[in-house]
Amino acid sequence: MFEKAIEMALSIAKKKNVKIAGIQLPDGLKVYSADIAERFEKEGITAIISGRASYGSCDIDEELMKEADVLFHFAHEPVEEVSDRVVFIPYRYDYDVGAILDVASEIDEHKLSLIATSQYIHKLDELKRELEKAGYYVSLKKGSKRISKKGLVLGCNFTSIDKRAEAVVFIGDGAFHPRGAAIYSGKKVYAISPLERKLKTFGEKEVQDFLKRRFALIAKAMDCEVFCVLASSKRGQKRLKLAMNISRELSIAGKKSYLVYFDEVNPENFPHDCLINTACPRIAYDDWKRFGCPVLSPQEAEILTGKRSWESYEMDTIF
Ligand code: SF4
Repeated sequence: MFEKAIEMALSIAKKKNVKIAGIQLPDGLKVYSADIAERFEKEGITAIISGRASYGSCDIDEELMKEADVLFHFAHEPVEEVSDRVVFIPYRYDYDVGAILDVASEIDEHKLSLIATSQYIHKLDELKRELEKAGYYVSLKKGSKRISKKGLVLGCNFTSIDKRAEAVVFIGDGAFHPRGAAIYSGKKVYAISPLERKLKTFGEKEVQDFLKRRFALIAKAMDCEVFCVLASSKRGQKRLKLAMNISRELSIAGKKSYLVYFDEVNPENFPHDCLINTACPRIAYDDWKRFGCPVLSPQEAEILTGKRSWESYEMDTIF
């Protein structure tokens, strides 16, 4: 399936008469680097592979962009206009909608909001039609301006969910997105992985377990003295103003607080008892254990400083 993506990039490169192509791949696809470079060389195009991490389309290698005629960014959907010299190459997994329907027959609710991650997004129109034939009412909605396709959800944005639905159907893998969708929507989420062809549910229990863990971290952070507020220089996750406001609020609340601006978040050498994350929201939710201290989202920092009540907990969203 990645073959199609490489072909697409090559054909665009030839059409645009590219001499030097920058290639940016997520870690899981970096294994194809040598093959891609060879394919481009055969067409007389020099390929320069980005050595940087590429977690999402917010993560453009701006330095490589300066060196290349075109930067081919693989496997992510664009979150904003960057430049016509950045070309996003999608990577789709070709799954069987019939198999998804078989699994979905266990769903009791009738009004559904359909969402997916980018590799499964291309079949949502077909899936909606088939679910409607099976008697469901299906909403396939486009979220905020950061979202390029109907039904697409990102780790930092669940606004494609139609909150008027009775339940959410998520097509994708892993627990992060369906759990986030359940917290964002307050609805039961049915997660169907096209790879496993199994249905998992994320409801009240998963939400409560998550909140308990987050509230324990906020409680721990209340006893911390030195707060390092993380801000990202990456164009799609840069929230410097928000970081400055949080740092100010923490100081007003009597905490020692300062702000650090990173490309790759790595606060090891900076003194801190607690980190506040304004970069990719997944750093606070998914990666916090690797930092050895509480890592709070901006909304959690607001609870800590008393600006927000515990009851109005929200997932961190970049709009
Ligand atoms: Fe993905 Fe994080 Fe970037 Fe959002 S901020 S697009 S979750 S890498």
